[in-house]
Order: sequence, then structure tokens, then C-alpha cells
Amino acid sequence: MINPAELELLRDALAKLAQGFAGLPPYTPDFDTEATARVLQLVAERMQDNYPYYHPRYAGQMLKPPHAVARIAYAMSLWVNPNNHALDGGRASSALEKECVADLGRMYGWDTLLGHLTGGGTMANLEALWVAGRLHPGKQIIASAQAHYTHTRISDVLGLPFAPVAVDEQGRMNPKAIEQLLQTGEVGTIVATLGNTGLGAVDPLAEILELAKHYGARVHADAAYGGYFGLASELRDDTKAAFDCLSEVDSIVVDPHKHGLQPYGCGCVLFRDPDVGRFYKHDSPFTYFSSAELHLGEISLECSRPGASAVALWATQQLYPLVSGGQFAQWLDQSLLAAQDLWRQLCDSEWYQPLMQPELDIVVYAIAAPDAVDASQCARRVFACAAEKDLHLAMIELPVEAVRVWLPEMTANAETVTCLRSVLMKPEHRDWVADIVRILEECATDL
Ligand SMILES: *Cc1c(COP(=O)(O)O)cnc(C)c1O
Repeated sequence: MINPAELELLRDALAKLAQGFAGLPPYTPDFDTEATARVLQLVAERMQDNYPYYHPRYAGQMLKPPHAVARIAYAMSLWVNPNNHALDGGRASSALEKECVADLGRMYGWDTLLGHLTGGGTMANLEALWVAGRLHPGKQIIASAQAHYTHTRISDVLGLPFAPVAVDEQGRMNPKAIEQLLQTGEVGTIVATLGNTGLGAVDPLAEILELAKHYGARVHADAAYGGYFGLASELRDDTKAAFDCLSEVDSIVVDPHKHGLQPYGCGCVLFRDPDVGRFYKHDSPFTYFSSAELHLGEISLECSRPGASAVALWATQQLYPLVSGGQFAQWLDQSLLAAQDLWRQLCDSEWYQPLMQPELDIVVYAIAAPDAVDASQCARRVFACAAEKDLHLAMIELPVEAVRVWLPEMTANAETVTCLRSVLMKPEHRDWVADIVRILEECATDL
């Protein structure tokens, strides 16, 4: 679990940090090390009650361990504990945040933009939809029926009407359904999800942009989970087509704490037009939003924010630049290939029926049972059996008709079917697919 080199690297980094303050009168904070040690043993014991998220045998929810460089940089910065709300609370880390955000923007082909880090995808989407609402007051927000549930909630918080858009059998927003909503003249913003959380399906962005242009709607891309996949080279053509036009949307949300190797507490919102900074309350002139003096606290709804997140992200992006063909991109390809491999092997299984072919690294699979109730019970039994064998999966509840596309003989004696879901977001998963399938087969024979 722990590579001892990490602790060495942290000690060396802290020694280097301390050199920067060597001119001050000596001062070492004191604390009761024995009592602290006792509490730390206690907390370590409590923390044992977790699924092993860092291990490739964890093939369930969307959890990816932070890279060592992120973990160490984050920990190191806690000895300074900068606050990226204001420059005098986090001078260096604010500069690092601006550089990280500029690099994320360049990944989407944006050279001028307004953006900052957030506590996560929820806060980032909240800011994007808040700006959307300011530009189209009272108008609807529409998003996929498979979009993250946060969009319904955020619209409610913002007092904006929300309407879900039906998805096709691939789990993508149906352009005809979007157009019907646009024709009412009530829609202000279309949320395109590039990689929905449940299925990993990518909304057809090229068609969405065309419709938005025709009807004068804004387009926000929720790429909290999928935002880095434009760097990959193993995308299917239809999926790649959506990522290729990401630069044309009005705003993007990407979560470095999902696929970007960061500890939790690191989301990002980006606006193509820096001028939307005028909606945040501030006292500065308007040329300021693209200037070097930009004060991050004036373009963020959250005030105090961890400078540590920016430090960790900057370190990670130094080591693994956001470029096609680079190490980071190759890791994304490993995840894509792992998902394709698992999907293919499950297609050959007599017990399992995978649903749509994965677009990113999520595989959803049902148990091939005669009816919906039976399939759901079997899925829950496989989930428990696999956990006993140290393979950790996730479950997803899907409308019975969405499952019957792939299992047409299944009797629809319930409204929903419990399916199994594996997010293969660790590059190591590529080498563990055979092991995962072996345990799945063992559990299916025991049913
Ligand atoms: C995870 C996710 C969110 C929510 O982000 P948090 O970081 O959990 O707050 C929103 N949209 C999508 C597509 C996501 O995958």
C-alpha cells in the first residue's frame, strides 16, 4: 500500500520548503507527541474500515487514487497551509493555480479564459449554471436524463426551471428530444455531459452545438468525469467526434479529483469568455479578468479554498503534462482498453450481458436472467459474493426498458433492473481484467 520512498520524498521536500524561511528566528511548534501517536493509531484503525480504493481489485465506483506526487505536494503544502481566497493568504499557490488552470484551458484549445479550481464538480457546475442563468434569466436548463443528479439540484438552488432530455439506447441525449425542447423557446442552456457518471456515455456534442447555434442557446459541458479523455488515442470515432468540438462550448467543468490523479477537493470550472467575470461581485475594472493581477477570490463563489489543491495539481501537471501521446494520455488509454476488454469478455460469458459497448472506461452489465426481479436479485448476490472474494464492484439501477434493449427476452416484471457497474479508471486495471472476470464467473456459477 505504501511505497517507503514517498515518506523520504516528503521529508526532503519539507526540508527544501523550510530553507525558504531560514532567516526567521528559530521556532518549532510543540505538541504532545505521545498523545498524538495514540490518537493516530486509533484513527488508522478506524480507517481500516474502507474498501481498498487504491487497489486494482477495487473495480466499482468512480474512485482513482491520487498520484504520489500529488499526495506529497499536498502534504508538504500543509506546513504553510495557504488559502487561495486572497493573494496575501496564498501568494505562491495562487500563482500555481493560475498556471494549472491555464494549462487545463489549453488542453481545450482556449488561450484566454476565466477559470479557477473549486471544491469539486458540484461547485464548478453550480458556478457554470449560475453564469448561464445570469445570461438567460428565467430560462430552462436542460440535461440528459442520465446526467449527474446535481444538475436538477443546482437548477433548484438557482431558481431555474430544469427539464431532462431522453437518452437513446447508447445512453446519450437524443438530438430529436433536444430539438423538441428548444422549439418551445424556453431553453436557455443545454448541458452536454461528456462522459455520464452512470454509463460513461458521451452526449453527441457536434449535433448539440449545431442545435444550440440555431436556437440561440448556451452550451455547458459537464466533463467532470470525462474531461481528460480528449488526450487519449483509443477513443471510438463517434466519441472522439464529441471531444473534438469541446473547444466550441461556452463553459466546461472538469474534475482533477476524478481522472486527474488528485486528492478530493479539486474540481475546475472554465469559461471561454473571460468577460463573465463581471457577474462575480468585485470592485475591479473589467479588463482585469484577463490580467496577471487577477485575484482568484473575486472570481469564485467559494471564499477560502485550499491552496494545497493547486500545489498538488501543479506538481502533477509538471510531471505529467496534459499532452496527447504523453504518459498521462497513455494511462487514459490503458483504462479505455481495460473497459473494452472487460466488455468483450462479458459478451462471451453465458452468465452476464453487458449493455452498450463502453465509450470511456465504465462497463455496465446485467445478469442474463429470465425476468427483471430475478436479474436484480442475482446482481446483488454477485456483488456480495465478489466482495467476499476481495473484488469490489458497484451497482446501478436502470429502467427495465434500457436493459431490455440488450436482453429482449427478459420479462419486464419491475420498473428497474439492478445491474453491476465497474469503473476501470486505474491504468493497472488493464492487467487485472482476467482476474476480475475469473471472480465474476466463479460468483455466477454459485448463484
Ligand atoms: C462526479 C460528477 C459530478 C459531481 O462532481 P463532484 O466532484 O462529485 O462534486 C458532476 N457531473 C459529473 C458528470 C460527474 O461525474
